[in-house]
Amino acid sequence: MNKLIINHRGLTELALSVANSISHFGLKDKKCYAIPRGGVSAAYAIQKYVNFHLVDTPHQADFFIDDLLDSGETMRRFCDEYPGRPFFTMLDKNRSEYWGRWIVFPWEVEDDGTDKSATDIVTRLLEYVGEDPNREGLAETPARVLKAWDHWTSGYKKDAASILKVFEDGAEGCDQMIVRKDIPIYSHCEHHLAAIIGRCTIAYIPNGKIAGLSKLDRLADMFARRLQVQERLTNQIADALVEHLNPLGVGVWISARHLCVESRGVASANSETITTALRGCIREQDAARAEFLALARS
Ligand code: ZN
Repeated sequence: MNKLIINHRGLTELALSVANSISHFGLKDKKCYAIPRGGVSAAYAIQKYVNFHLVDTPHQADFFIDDLLDSGETMRRFCDEYPGRPFFTMLDKNRSEYWGRWIVFPWEVEDDGTDKSATDIVTRLLEYVGEDPNREGLAETPARVLKAWDHWTSGYKKDAASILKVFEDGAEGCDQMIVRKDIPIYSHCEHHLAAIIGRCTIAYIPNGKIAGLSKLDRLADMFARRLQVQERLTNQIADALVEHLNPLGVGVWISARHLCVESRGVASANSETITTALRGCIREQDAARAEFLALARS
């Protein structure tokens, strides 16, 4: 995770800049509602440079302060409910220097200067499910969970172009289907963050370019190690092959078990979901399609 820990000097600069905007909008000495929780610390930091009065409920406020603008959902909600009242944030995550970064403010840093805001999320989850996070067996769990999630979502840090290094040497005369069968799939559904476990068969008919066989496994693994729905996962593998190999045809077949479906009683245990993505001649020509599907199902 690309982390940015804001120190007190950085915070001063951000606070000054918001204070200037507040003055500019003629809101000096007016009433402000600070958005819990991060907005409260932000408002106190800004108050050092421009005077305003903090109020306890949003409807009393002339304007709002939050620590950072993330998805923009909070700001939209306040702007819809209190139209015309300005909403200030210390930091806009949509700006290029902050994009995709994990921002840590001084009030989120530990006394040893490290950031525990991510492990705090897991600790809160343990509390949410009714556990005691201080129980001996759970002491190391938050750190372990984050490490596991780093691994389970490592596909975000990879891209198809660098995995699918293609070569033309050895591709001459290659016009038959190349198949990798039963590639293991370990993914997580984006709706429940629950495990998706399955296997994938990938086939393509080259058009002058081939990729190393293990590259097909790595391609499937890269897309699987993101938050997914099985349909998208299947299509992404097929489309990446089309884009980087330009083959005559591509077939991707995935059969997977979804823990969120099975364990919540919606479907019987061991039920499998099958998705296919066919491109080019494997989609259009009956014989090629039948050959691929027979191979995948066998
Ligand atoms: Zn799910």
